Amino acid sequence: MKNNVFIANWKMNKPFALALDFCTQHKTELKKLSSRPHTEIVLCPSFDVLFSVAEILSDTLVNLGAQTCSPHERGAYTGQVSASSLKEVGCDYCIIGHSEQRQYANVSNEDVAEQAIRLLEADIEPIICIGETKKIFEQDQAIRFLEEQLNPVLAEVTSFEKPITIAYEPIWSIGTGIMPDRDYLIKIFTWLSRIGKYKLSHNEWRLVYGGSVDPENMDVFTSINHLHGFLVGSASLDFQKFEKIVLLKT
Ligand code: PEP
Repeated sequence: MKNNVFIANWKMNKPFALALDFCTQHKTELKKLSSRPHTEIVLCPSFDVLFSVAEILSDTLVNLGAQTCSPHERGAYTGQVSASSLKEVGCDYCIIGHSEQRQYANVSNEDVAEQAIRLLEADIEPIICIGETKKIFEQDQAIRFLEEQLNPVLAEVTSFEKPITIAYEPIWSIGTGIMPDRDYLIKIFTWLSRIGKYKLSHNEWRLVYGGSVDPENMDVFTSINHLHGFLVGSASLDFQKFEKIVLLKT
C-alpha cells in the first residue's frame, strides 16, 4: 500500500469522448506522476468509459476505480454493475458510500457493507466514503454519526484481511469551496486512525480526505498525521490542478 494516494472522482462530469481525450492528452504526465515514489494515482471515470481508459493507460501505473457498484453478486438488477465485472474491465478500486450515492440512490450503511463484501470478493479495494452534514457538524455530533456509517461496513471487511481505504468527506465541504479547519481535521483523523488500529488490525488501511481540495488550499493539511491522500472531485477535472495537488504532497 502506497502512502500517498490521489483519487480523481470525475462523477458524471466527463462524458465518453472528453474522458478519453483527457487520458490520451495527459498520458505522458500521468505516467510520470504515477511513477513517483510512494505515490498512487487512481482515476474514477463513469462506467461507460472504464474499459477504454484501462486500455489507454495500460502501460502506466495509473489505477482505475469505479464510482459505485452493485451490492449484489449477479442477477436481475437492471441498471446495476457487479464488482466482478468491474474487475474484468480493469478496476482495482471502487468508491462506495459517496454522499451523492447516499442522497440520490438511497444507498444505506448496510448497502455499503454489502458493496464492500462484493468488492473484496472480487479483489477490488473499496474506498469507503463517510461524512457528516452541516447540521450534524454544527451540533458537534460528527463522530457519533461517522461511527454509525462505519460500523456495519467495518464489521464485514475485517474477515477479508485485505486493504481498504476510508475517505472522510464532510458533505458541507463537497463542491462548496469550504474546508474544515486544521484542528477539526486533526480531531477527525486522530479518531479515524484509532478506529483503524483497533477495528482493522487484520487489514491494511489508509485514510484520505475529500471535499473542495484544490492546489490553493493544501496548506491546511500540513503535518496532519494519519492522512494518506486525497479524494478530489472538481479539481481533478483539470489536469494541471490535479498534477499540482500531487506534486505539492509528494
Ligand atoms: C467528491 O465529491 O468526492 C469531492 C471530493 O468533490 P469536490 O472535490 O468537488 O469537493
